[in-house]
Amino acid sequence: MSTWRKAQELAASRGIDALLVTPGADLRYLTGYVALPLERLTCLVLPASGAPTLVVPALERQAAVASGVDVEIATWTETEDPFALVAQLVGEATTIGLDDHMWAARVFAFGEAMPQADQVLAGSLVQVRIRKDAAEVAALRDAGLAIDQVHSRVHEWLRPGRTEREVGADIAAAILEAGHETVDFVIVGSGPNGASPHHELSDRVIEVGEPVVVDIGGTMPSGYCSDSTRNYLAGGTVDPEYAKAYAVLEEAHQAQREHARPGVTAESVDAIGRQIIADAGYGDLFIHRTGHGIGQETHEEPYIVEGNDLVLEEGMAFSIEPGIYFEGRFGARIEDIAVCTADGLEVLNNTPRGLVAL
Ligand code: ZN
Ligand code: ZN
Ligand code: ZN
Repeated sequence: MSTWRKAQELAASRGIDALLVTPGADLRYLTGYVALPLERLTCLVLPASGAPTLVVPALERQAAVASGVDVEIATWTETEDPFALVAQLVGEATTIGLDDHMWAARVFAFGEAMPQADQVLAGSLVQVRIRKDAAEVAALRDAGLAIDQVHSRVHEWLRPGRTEREVGADIAAAILEAGHETVDFVIVGSGPNGASPHHELSDRVIEVGEPVVVDIGGTMPSGYCSDSTRNYLAGGTVDPEYAKAYAVLEEAHQAQREHARPGVTAESVDAIGRQIIADAGYGDLFIHRTGHGIGQETHEEPYIVEGNDLVLEEGMAFSIEPGIYFEGRFGARIEDIAVCTADGLEVLNNTPRGLVAL
């Protein structure tokens, strides 16, 4: 069944008369169309029953057709009002679902064009995305293999005397060489920078004996993303306190991998690793959730976080990435992408998880 039909069924079951989806991962998931988020309106109009229509600016029609969308296309010219066109397609609908990432300007314009309708968030409808089918799992597996190739080459570039930015440029080139279409992020956090989880790159020169957090990811031509973190030691010997914390982190990560499977909650995966880290005295240094879902977006549902009692199911893919951060000194994070199988967990990143001495 096409993905838009699944979303349509969900919309109908929740009393939503029509769904409006503007460019982004949801539109790509529903139609296959990778539309640029431009000022001119592109919008999928998906009624709860009946045929959907993709509204595109006339000058984008060929691009939409070339992407192979399997829905009717309606175009608008430079002097026409695309919001009126959408309103006409929506007709008498009284409850309209809007994609979660829609620009506020669009939300207001749709509100004015359809004053009779209530607007509701529709992200959860497209969250049919949360369960990946076999083809999607295969695409994530390819992405995992590709980013693993890059991690296994980091020793070629990471060494004392080079800056994070220099190392990052080499890694970025390798991410593309490994088959990704785009580089989504490259984090090279040396020494104290490793204690800031989303530090990217700086001109800091890497010093002998420093731990370096390398967290990298890209998007494959399939549209599916990779994301994996490993930790490297830039020569010298490791600080004993770091080694001690690192052993705890490995233990936590392993316990989480062994625990995660269909039937357990997202928050229980977080809790089992957090308990191990807390018991070792590092509870305050694990300053983020355990993970995020991944698919055509690097961060999507399900979030592996305290308070999320969602029960994991076959096909759910997410990161397991506990971290321990000593502010001003160094940090460590181990990150794999994993996907629930029928009765267990398939881990999609498989380079060695230990501290890699260079
Ligand atoms: Zn992150
Ligand atoms: Zn991640
Ligand atoms: Zn990451």
